[in-house]
This record gives sequence, structure tokens and C-alpha cells, in this order.
Amino acid sequence: MPIPTEPVGSLPRPAKLQAAIAAYDDGKITRDELKIEQDAACLDSIKRGEATGAPIISDGEQRASSFATYPLADTLAGTGLADTLSGDGQYFAIFTDGHHRQLPRLTHGPFRYKTYAADYLREAMGMSTKPLKQAVIAPSMLALLYPLDGEVEGYTREEFHNDLIDECEKDIRLAFAAGAKRVSIDFTEGRLACRNDPNNPWTGRGMLEGFIQLNNRVLDRFTPEERKNIGIHTCPGGDCDSTHSGDVDYAELLPSMFKMNAGYFLIQLASEPDKERIYKLLGEHSREDANGVPQVCFIGVINPLDPRVETPEEVRDDLLLAAKYIPVERLGSTDDCGFSPFSIDVKPKHGSPDVARDVAFQKIESRVKGTAMASEQLLGKAAVQ
Ligand SMILES: [Zn+2]
Repeated sequence: MPIPTEPVGSLPRPAKLQAAIAAYDDGKITRDELKIEQDAACLDSIKRGEATGAPIISDGEQRASSFATYPLADTLAGTGLADTLSGDGQYFAIFTDGHHRQLPRLTHGPFRYKTYAADYLREAMGMSTKPLKQAVIAPSMLALLYPLDGEVEGYTREEFHNDLIDECEKDIRLAFAAGAKRVSIDFTEGRLACRNDPNNPWTGRGMLEGFIQLNNRVLDRFTPEERKNIGIHTCPGGDCDSTHSGDVDYAELLPSMFKMNAGYFLIQLASEPDKERIYKLLGEHSREDANGVPQVCFIGVINPLDPRVETPEEVRDDLLLAAKYIPVERLGSTDDCGFSPFSIDVKPKHGSPDVARDVAFQKIESRVKGTAMASEQLLGKAAVQ
């Protein structure tokens, strides 16, 4: 088996699709007209993904409002918001360039997803000749829908958590049933939970351990065989080419993160200033046996926020260095994050979302080539063929 390589999930939506989403929000086009653009963007994402030579791809999340809000609303502006929610929730994150992203607020129970990731995946399955992965949102993120203080009338936090766990489990099971080969859970709030930003009150509440427990309640519902293909993604955010928690030391997150009984982890690393130190931490804290599964560390070798395309040789060298600290049978490669976790993203450092799409596919190709080179060096030629 060669060293595995897998994307996180999202790709920039083409400028044409972003314009169609805005027109839909303004009531200028119908849902069916929007779907024509989504279909075209999905097909383009899949065909170009296949052309990179990657063993597993995604639909680029072209239909999702964002990695976090796809179960709740049709668009990022809140069109089609579920009727148990209102738009004025807390900030999920404030990014280093000053922009922020806000979550909806739960107004009453019971909490149910409006859309499951599988609803989008089913559309993509017929378009792809390669295995597809699906990203889903973590319960720890959606836990922030419940007001930070106080109680939603007639619906306790505990009742909400119970419903949330059920919905997240269902989201994962439906994705596998629809044909996903792998399902990764987006956990960008993990690193942010260590930040303590006075402008973003939830970050200062020491919520990390509670997040880990919530996510494990979902993971514990799956067998070790199933959990081999259920991953966790960690990153310092990636929106409009900006991050929200890049200044948090990974050493604060990783010992807790690996307590989650997932079979693999997609870990932002290409943009870390001292990668070797983090590889060492991964080697120390990832577990050979997480309640029946080994934890495979997919290290980020591509930075989706930077327009410069990494070379295959750089990717190879990252993996060779990481292999000094992480057993090669528990090593993989990934991108640091999705290329556009939010549907509306102009990718300012790239100049436009369409340029950013071209760059993304070149970067994925480098990841695939560089990973094959590292495989050959670490495992021999036979492993790569
Ligand atoms: Zn990410």
C-alpha cells in the first residue's frame, strides 16, 4: 500500500456560481436555475479532480453553503434557513484580516438537519469514476448554535446535545450509504477553542474538552472497522485566504485532539513555521490503538491560502521528514484545509475564485506526485504500483 493521500473537501466556487447564489438570494433566479450552475460546478470539480491522478476526490462542496452550515441553510446569506433557527447567532470566528463569520441561533427544539451531506453526495456519485470522500460538520461546531449562556425555552442543552449527536451520526451513516469511501469530520473550532479572543466570547470558555467528549459520543457509535474510514480535520481556519487561530500553539490542541477515537486525522501543517516540531508532537500523541483503530496522521503538504504552487519535491521532503517521527504505516498526506470552506469567497490573494480553482488543481497534482515519490523512497517501487 502506498502512502495514502486525501483532500479535505472544498474547492472555490466558480465566479459564475457565486453570482448565481447572489441572484438566488435576491430572488432573481429560481432554485432550479441555481441548481444548473451547481451541477456544472460539481461536474467540473470532479472531472478536473480526476485529471490530477488523485486516488480519492470530492465534489468540491459546490452545493454547500459552507462546511458548517450545509445542514442548516441553502445559502450563506441564510436563504432557506431551518425554522428552528434565526440568523443572529454568535460569531463562529473572527479572522486575522478582520472579517468574521456568524452562526445561526437555535430558537426552539427539536434540532434536526434540513440537509444531510449525502443529499449532495448522491448527486456527485453519478458524475465520478473515482472514489469520493465526504466531509461533514462536527457536533462540536453545531453545539455553538445553542446560546452560550441561559437556556432555550422548553429545550435543554442536554436535549439539544442528544439530538445533535443523533443527527451527526445519521449524517455520517447516510454519506457511507450513498457511496462515500471516507468521511472526515471538520473540527476547525478545536484549535480556535484554545485562543481566548475577547471579541469572541465562546473561545474563552475552555470548551475544548467538552468538544472532544461530544465528538467521541458520535465516534463511539461506530465499530473500529467503520472508524478506519472516519477522520477528523484540524486547521486554523481558511476563508478569504485568511486564518482564525494560526497563532495558537498546536501543543495546546494535539494531546486532546488525539483522544478522539477516529481512524485518521487531516492536519494543517504546510503553513506551520516549524513543521518538524509538529511532526514530533504527532508522533508522540497519535495513538497506535484508539479503541480498536490506529490513528493515521495525514500531514498538510499544500497551503490553499497561498497562490504559490508547492513542487512535488517539497511535498516529498515534508513526508520524508515526518516519517522520522510518525510510523510510515500511520502516515498520509493532505491539503492544509479545504480550498474554500465558505461558498462565497473571492480568494483575494489569488485574484479571483476562478484563478484559485486553476491553482488548486495544480496543487493537488503536486500533492499526488510528491506523495508517490515519498512512497517510492520509503516503501520501495512495488508499493507505488
Ligand atoms: Zn480547515
